Amino acid sequence: MQLIDGKETARVIRAELAGRAAAFAEAHGRRIGLAVLLIGDDPASQVYVRNKIKACEETGIRSLAHYLPAATTQAQAEELVRSLAEDDKVDGILIQLPLPAHLDAKKLLALIPTEKDVDGFSPENVGRLALREDCTAACTPLGIMELLRRYHIPTAGKRAVVVGRSNIVGKPMALLLLNADATVTICHSRTQNLKDECLRADILIAAVGKPKFITADMVKEGAVVIDVGMDRDEEGKLCGDVDFASVREKASFLTPVPGGVGPMTIAMLLYNTCAAAERRTAE
Ligand code: NAP
Repeated sequence: MQLIDGKETARVIRAELAGRAAAFAEAHGRRIGLAVLLIGDDPASQVYVRNKIKACEETGIRSLAHYLPAATTQAQAEELVRSLAEDDKVDGILIQLPLPAHLDAKKLLALIPTEKDVDGFSPENVGRLALREDCTAACTPLGIMELLRRYHIPTAGKRAVVVGRSNIVGKPMALLLLNADATVTICHSRTQNLKDECLRADILIAAVGKPKFITADMVKEGAVVIDVGMDRDEEGKLCGDVDFASVREKASFLTPVPGGVGPMTIAMLLYNTCAAAERRTAE
């Protein structure tokens, strides 16, 4: 079994993007700018935002952080997003989810212009992805495609099974694999005979959110197994959706947790931001 090293791959990508960010700054007399909006005091969100800002700064991308209190009104949040949408120095806008319950996330996200939607969550970008047109795809599945590419794992004609159908992981993952000519099955909580479905996979993607859910008896000998999960085991330790200890005996390639898909998500956010800046200024 070969371990897929997401941490190292993400480091290489960040170094590549640092070159692109420097070239942009040289050509345009300003750095690429990513606006990050955090509303409220969700501790996990604070850690994610901190990591994203740190990665931006290390890559030469200017991060414009906006921290708003939990009591922020919908009108105040909308006003800020509108001003960021119009700001020419802002190339990408990221609204950290989840938002406090009284805010309408869908309405706020809809104010992000498609060309600044670096998370790839907008209906326009999702639609373009489904139509196999030029688009910004969601960072986590995009990072997985990049891992497959950099580890020379072919997708064309392969059977890919995605367990999970969320809008941010499972669904865009399935579309990206389909666009890369895999034969794709999407599984979810109502799927019958999940084990049989998984056993058919040449490439198995686990995006379920349940610790060690995918066990060795669900994995075909020699399958490529990608673990998106960020879960906690019985002892509170970070683990994935895949039972790493048993699945490693069967898989040909496997991503660890931590150090697999996680670091790629941030790397692809930076990638989407660079691409957004280059696209906007090329117009
Ligand atoms: P989610 O929105 O909760 O979706 C989970 C999916 O799993 C749903 O589609 C659900 O089916 C399906 N599911 C639940 N129980 C199942 C079962 N028993 N059998 C088959 N399918 C089942 O989660 P998410 O946002 O996609 O995230 C999934 C995991 O990835 C989480 O652990 C999350 O923390 C992690 N994650 C990691 C990163 C990263 O950067 N590494 C990024 C995002 C998410 P239904 O649709 O039928 O309910």
